[in-house]
Amino acid sequence: FQSYQKSSCSILNPSAIYANNEVSLEEVDIYGFDYDYTLALYSNNLDTMIYDTARDFLIEHFKYPEGIHKYDYVPNFAARGLHYDIQKGLLMKIDAFHYIEPGTVYRGLKPVPDEEVVGLYGGTHHVPLNQDSGFYGKGPKMKQFMDVFSLPEMTLLAVANDYFISNDIEYDPVHLYKDVSAIGMVHLKGFMYKWITQDLEKFILSGEPTRAVLQRLVSQGKKLFLITNSPFSFVDKGMVYMVGQNWREFFDAIIVQADKPHFFNDCFKPFRRLDSNGDLQWDKINSLEKGQIYKQGNLFEFLRLTGWRGSKVLYFGDHLYSDLADLMLRHGWRTGAIVPELIHETKVVNTKQYALGLTWLQALTGLLERMQIHRDPESQKVLQEWMKEREEAVTKNLFNPQFGSIFRTSHNPTYFSRRLCRFSDVYMASISCLLNYDLSYTFYPRRTPLQHEAPLWMDQLCTGCMKTPFLEEMALIR
Ligand SMILES: [Mg+2]
Repeated sequence: FQSYQKSSCSILNPSAIYANNEVSLEEVDIYGFDYDYTLALYSNNLDTMIYDTARDFLIEHFKYPEGIHKYDYVPNFAARGLHYDIQKGLLMKIDAFHYIEPGTVYRGLKPVPDEEVVGLYGGTHHVPLNQDSGFYGKGPKMKQFMDVFSLPEMTLLAVANDYFISNDIEYDPVHLYKDVSAIGMVHLKGFMYKWITQDLEKFILSGEPTRAVLQRLVSQGKKLFLITNSPFSFVDKGMVYMVGQNWREFFDAIIVQADKPHFFNDCFKPFRRLDSNGDLQWDKINSLEKGQIYKQGNLFEFLRLTGWRGSKVLYFGDHLYSDLADLMLRHGWRTGAIVPELIHETKVVNTKQYALGLTWLQALTGLLERMQIHRDPESQKVLQEWMKEREEAVTKNLFNPQFGSIFRTSHNPTYFSRRLCRFSDVYMASISCLLNYDLSYTFYPRRTPLQHEAPLWMDQLCTGCMKTPFLEEMALIR
């Protein structure tokens, strides 16, 4: 009990699994995995490589100015989950209520003053995302960056915007966006497969935990499957490197080039078998055999052939939309999100500096809530100072200096956070976190109070009387 108390105090564990919804592993018989950034984790070298290649491609093939070449990759510039205004060329962080967080709008590599932002969005911080962007964050006016290429892609957009602006060159940000995304979609994937398979050690982070997870699940009688958008030869080389020659024996079904998210919605694309050379076969698929490789297909067919339905299936993926959204909303499998950013973010939350910042932020909020009834000029002056301090007390800089935490704006959850809660039952930094739990473990989400169930800020502070003269009371509190 004592050791439980010790571990349950305020220190967060970066290798824990966090629950949005109750999940009992006891009930899970079948474990499914995405491949890239789920089974295979890649080093930061890959981001630099993607950036350099895309930048040079932009110059060589799209004839962009040579000057862009002098911009090296900025590793900590962008963060996952940000929105990009395609027409205005602005990168920004948006909260769960579709409001832009002040101080987090970047044009090129420079922040845009808040007054200007408000001017650009019709006198408000609110962005009508349901008009400007699809449910899965894809345009036409706004794009949310969620996938593998996002960090280098956002950085390249910022860099190119920066070059045009600082050299006073007229351009249309829409063309820039289209060109950069074309490079990502069409060309970079092929390059990426090549680089990684040529130097597995440089790009793939340790595969030992992946092997350990798969081995543990299989040894306890669980069924495993893989659904990836990547091609077989690429996955095969990576898996041989991480897990061993016999990796296919771990899986009851292997689907490559699945074309997620369409895999989850399309009802027509049949599965095709690949032979051991990776050549497509033409036989009709009436069952998914262990050890065989299948291409494409769709989830409806997958469910029919396997009978793996409902909450006995838990699927892990890193992409909230392509991997998890449809499973959660339509198909009822349990979902696990891989969020590697948790390692850094929990580290920050564990610092004393963060704890002090947060305590002060809450104290100030409580004071503001309690003291706002004092309308005399002297009190109002103090209140104004507190409000200013409350905005500055925020611990944003401890995370990404430009955009802060991927989970929170100053006072709200982010848009990313809300989607994470909606589309994943559990979330964790990597699948190796599974090694910290036995396979009968139940993840219980914390019961956090709803707004009407929680005490008011002022009651949290103290239950003093509201009639005490303001400054006197202040003296007491200070
Ligand atoms: Mg992935």
